[in-house]
This record gives sequence, C-alpha cells and structure tokens, in this order.
Amino acid sequence: MRLRNITGSREVIQSSPFVIDEEALDTCPGRWGEIFGNTHPLHIEIGMGKGRFIYTMAKNSPDINYVGIEKYSSVLLRAIQKMEEEALPNLKFIRMDAEDIDKVFGGGEVDKIYLNFSDPWPKDRHARRRLPSRQFLDRYDRILKRDGRLEFKTDNRGLFDFALEELEPAGWRADIITYDLHSDDKLMEGNIMTEYEEKFSSKGNPIYKYIIFR
Ligand code: SAM
Repeated sequence: MRLRNITGSREVIQSSPFVIDEEALDTCPGRWGEIFGNTHPLHIEIGMGKGRFIYTMAKNSPDINYVGIEKYSSVLLRAIQKMEEEALPNLKFIRMDAEDIDKVFGGGEVDKIYLNFSDPWPKDRHARRRLPSRQFLDRYDRILKRDGRLEFKTDNRGLFDFALEELEPAGWRADIITYDLHSDDKLMEGNIMTEYEEKFSSKGNPIYKYIIFR
C-alpha cells in the first residue's frame, strides 16, 4: 500500500472518536463490553487495510462488535473517512502492530479473528512476522474464546501453504480448507470481498481460505 506517509494522518487518528486512544490500549483487556456498551460478541480483523471488509461486516451485523486493527496511520485514515460518512456504533479501530494483540484483548475475550490478504514476508528470516505464523497463532490462542474460529483468506499460495504447515505445531486444526473460494457456492454465501480480494480475483487469481480452531 502506498499510503504510508500522508501528512497529519497520525494527528487525525489521535483525535478520531472511532479510534481507541493509543495511550488507553493497556486499559482495554476485559473491558470491550464496556467500551461498546453491550455484551455482543467481539470479532476482530488484523491488518484491515482501508477497512472495506470490516466496515461492511459491521454494517450487515449490528449485533456483533467489530474491532479493526491496522499498523499504518495513513491506511487507517481511509477507514476513518468511511466512518465519517456514516458512523457505525459497533465498529472501532486500533492503530497498532498486532505483535502486541494479546495486550489489548483479555483471555478468551474475542469470538472470531479475521486475517485477510496478510503481508507475505517472503524471506525465511521474516517468517515470524507473518500473521498466520505459529508465533501469532500463540497470541491468538490467548485472546480467542475456546470454541472461537479464525478465518484467513489470501491469493498467495506460498503464504497459504506456510499457514497450513503452522497449524499442527501450534496446536490448531482446520474446519475448512479451500484452494478456490470463489468457485465454492456454499463458502461464498455471505462472503464479503476485501479490497485485495477484488483486485486479485479480478485478475483471475484463485483465492485460498481456511477456517481454523483448536
Ligand atoms: N485486509 C486488507 C485487504 O484484504 O484488502 C488489506 C490487505 S494488505 C496486503 C495488509 C495490511 O495489513 C496492510 O494494510 C498492513 O499495513 C497491515 N499489517 C501487516 N502487518 C501488520 C501487523 N503486524 N499489525 C497490524 N497491521 C498489519
């Protein structure tokens, strides 16, 4: 994404009512019900980019609380702009590196985790930075409810194969694995396209997806 250096994006984010204040993040674990003012289930997307997926999900499911997490201010800014046009009470954003995700959500507080078109980090020495790596699966293990699910979509075959290899060592199992999501009518029911999904599927790339649990 070439949106990383928009001047002033950090300031806009700091003052946005749709973004959790970075200074307050360590007070959030165990308090998400209080933050949203209800006890609805909590679904999060890590690496949400410009936020089309999570915004549409939140709009379609007002009885679920959503939190979108994005590392870069200038990308997050685009998601904030959508909320400024039409604010959704069940959607909040966090600007952070997901490495610290288990410091923001309490044990078993999250009902579902979405990873969409995560950065591939192709060099072996960067494997631990990949969002479906075993290091990240351990963090997700701490915050996800016992019967919770994690859904991952990508068009990157190398990353998908890596993600599948990480499951067993990290103690996870797959409910569903597909190598061509868009040809599977059942799995496509209710599928919300992300920005990257639209871009790569329109080029003819197959979309891979798994749903996992432990
Ligand atoms: N999910 C969106 C989609 O499918 O259109 C965006 C995909 S984009 C390739 C990956 C996004 O994940 C980028 O916006 C990147 O900044 C973000 N990201 C990558 N690593 C991250 C991390 N460790 N913590 C938070 N966000 C991250």
